[in-house]
Amino acid sequence: MHDIIIIGAGPAGLTAALYALRAGKTALILEKSNFGGQMTYSPKIENFPGTAQISGNELAEQLIDQVISHGADIEPEEVTGIEDLGGTKKVITTSGSHEGKAVIIAAGVKHRLTEAEGEEKFLGEGISFCAVCDGDFYSGKEVAVIGGGNSALQEAVLLSEKCKKVTLVQNLPYFTGEKRLLDVLRERKNVEYITGSTVRRFEGEGKLSSVVIADESGSETALSVDGVFVAIGLIPSNEIFASVCGLDDRGYFDSGEDCKTKTSGIFVAGDCRRKSIRQITTACADGSVAALAACNFIDLS
Ligand SMILES: Cc1cc2nc3c(=O)[nH]c(=O)nc-3n(C[C@H](O)[C@H](O)[C@H](O)COP(=O)(O)OP(=O)(O)OC[C@H]3O[C@@H](n4cnc5c(N)ncnc54)[C@H](O)[C@@H]3O)c2cc1C
Repeated sequence: MHDIIIIGAGPAGLTAALYALRAGKTALILEKSNFGGQMTYSPKIENFPGTAQISGNELAEQLIDQVISHGADIEPEEVTGIEDLGGTKKVITTSGSHEGKAVIIAAGVKHRLTEAEGEEKFLGEGISFCAVCDGDFYSGKEVAVIGGGNSALQEAVLLSEKCKKVTLVQNLPYFTGEKRLLDVLRERKNVEYITGSTVRRFEGEGKLSSVVIADESGSETALSVDGVFVAIGLIPSNEIFASVCGLDDRGYFDSGEDCKTKTSGIFVAGDCRRKSIRQITTACADGSVAALAACNFIDLS
């Protein structure tokens, strides 16, 4: 029996473990694939307070060492469901099950990929998902933004303030984001628009140098770029928890700042819940809130 079982070893889950352990609780962290979560794809993080620059892998290692030194149990297991047994919760994994007094789900999100040739090779090394995180690395350079919804338009607005040129590439014949954002972009002289085109491949010797797109007739154009920002959506994978936690219409946990769910003793933290800013700092903040709420729940039960 564990006090708190944490699903996901990204910054939200690891911070939750740190707070739970320091409050004298036992914590088991279950991670299906990537210890450290999404940040391990980032070679440079420059917006984590107190650290001028750190690689995502280094930050992940430091966090993991910190929680292990406080006594966390970490297991490489994929969670497939949770059963509310009333007093305790049963967390079912592909290799068995664990019982805990409280559960924190910190399962994160995945960024939708273009699935074009070369994408994997340049991920985090020329291909980014976050202008707030990586925009500064492309100051004075030429970039493309893939997508045409609000996220893509917001990325383009931010990038147009620092990049020499921003080319928006959208698969539909029109942009689906808000007119207000398009109006802002249309004022900017360094923004170009390509609609009705999809990404075919990413090219470059050692570093990314171009993205090849194709229009509806199949005719290809190579855009010379230093970086590409892919903003074609996020994919939460929360359906397996839907019976114990409410989901909103986009598949995120429908929980607010208190990180509570409709099931007492089950909490959610980080990118997997409804929120407007998905960053390491906001994930860590949720981790601490969820852990202290879980500790409180156990103490009062
Ligand atoms: C390339 C890239 C660069 C970024 N750069 C920055 C940056 O510079 N600054 C910044 O603030 N933010 C950055 N971000 C965003 C930041 O990484 C996320 O906001 C943050 O990682 C969210 O943390 P999380 O713990 O909520 O989720 P995640 O980091 O997504 O971690 C969730 C973990 O849960 C695991 N998991 C999911 N389902 C299960 C299951 N069923 N069973 C077991 N485990 C499961 C996943 O494998 C994953 O490891 C970047 C993101 C990317 C992709």
